[in-house]
Amino acid sequence: MSWRNFVYTLVLLVAFSVPLGAQDKKQGPPKRLAVRAGHLIDGKSDKSLDNVVIVIEGDKIVSVTLSGPAPAGVEIIDLSKYTVLPGFIDLHTHVLLNGDITADDYDKQLLKQSIPYRAILGARNGRIALENGFTTIRDVETEGAMYADVDVKTAIQNGEVPGPRMQVATRAMTPTGMYPLLGYSWELKLPTGVQYVDGADGARKAVREQVMYGADWIKYYSDRGYQIESDGVLHSMVNFTDDEAKAIVDETHRLGKRVAAHAIGSDGIAAALRAGVDTIEHGVGLTEPLMDEMVKKGTTWVPTIMVVAYVAPGRGGNWTKMVDLEKAAFQKARKRGVKIALGTDAGGSDWRELNEAVEFDYYVNYGMTPMEAIQSGTIRAAEALGWSEKLGAIEPGKWADLVAVSGDPLKDIKELQHVKFVMKGGVVYKDETSRH
Ligand SMILES: [Zn+2]
Repeated sequence: MSWRNFVYTLVLLVAFSVPLGAQDKKQGPPKRLAVRAGHLIDGKSDKSLDNVVIVIEGDKIVSVTLSGPAPAGVEIIDLSKYTVLPGFIDLHTHVLLNGDITADDYDKQLLKQSIPYRAILGARNGRIALENGFTTIRDVETEGAMYADVDVKTAIQNGEVPGPRMQVATRAMTPTGMYPLLGYSWELKLPTGVQYVDGADGARKAVREQVMYGADWIKYYSDRGYQIESDGVLHSMVNFTDDEAKAIVDETHRLGKRVAAHAIGSDGIAAALRAGVDTIEHGVGLTEPLMDEMVKKGTTWVPTIMVVAYVAPGRGGNWTKMVDLEKAAFQKARKRGVKIALGTDAGGSDWRELNEAVEFDYYVNYGMTPMEAIQSGTIRAAEALGWSEKLGAIEPGKWADLVAVSGDPLKDIKELQHVKFVMKGGVVYKDETSRH
């Protein structure tokens, strides 16, 4: 090595060792802390446990021990007067939407708000969800805001804004003309609430495109035009041909993603099940044979009762009866063993008005035990997301996503609407406890 090369090498070594050293120092060992829980609902056990110590390292839970001492020299978060639960999961949200009881509410958002403005509200809505205890959401389409859900998700992931973990569906799909905006002059070039997709090849291309831009899920509209017919069943008009729907599902699965189908009437649900979707959204018109089909196929039902009930009075028509039909379907589906995982359709309501945890309340009113309802919004929902290894329960190896309430949600499920403490990935985002 020449003298000049030697100096050059030395300069390089110094130049690179400084930032590397600094980086090492900054990262340090992962932060350890312990949470002392007065009561613990862990998402898996049938009963709550008392006096539990949860040790967290970095963003993960490393141990859960009954009534032992907290490890020495570790910051302790004392929630001994509280009930601690896994962070809640909402499988059906629209952070880019702020209420659409009427077509007018909906059209105004697409026509008068820019996508950047809607994305700012989307970030705000993410924060609302997190502060309500929902540390994870699956956002199932942007309603005309293109791929802005991917941006909200990325900003949260990068720590730019507080919000829940997200899986996103981007634009959703219907065939041409089967989703708003509709009814305007043909001379106008208007945005659409979804991506119009036609033909099996068109379907495959649309799936590839949405996945390319960041879709974790593909969402499509299986039906529209809901009518209660003489058999007492809620029927509907099916949007896609079987060929098209199967192409959507096949291509999505081929790319390692999952499919959510909006399916309200029995015909739309049947078509979605024939296509092989992973989750049925809404599912008001579920019949017993369709429930059995779901059990056989392992399809998850995401009922979204909160928003169906919320929009019904304003929409009138069949919607009020649909609330009753869904209640009856819920009771039967639970008995028949359909996998029911919590989803609210938040965004169909004003985010500032309705707390997503109201959905738990409906499930209990409709016949679930409080523990079953909690599990539908924790471990069951994590399974539907393919994240059961990471989420949905408080046990070693899972992300440290915890919430705490002051009362006993097994006695009064409404407690879940008053979350006092929220931790996501080991970081505290809300603390209204009196522990200080
Ligand atoms: Zn929805």
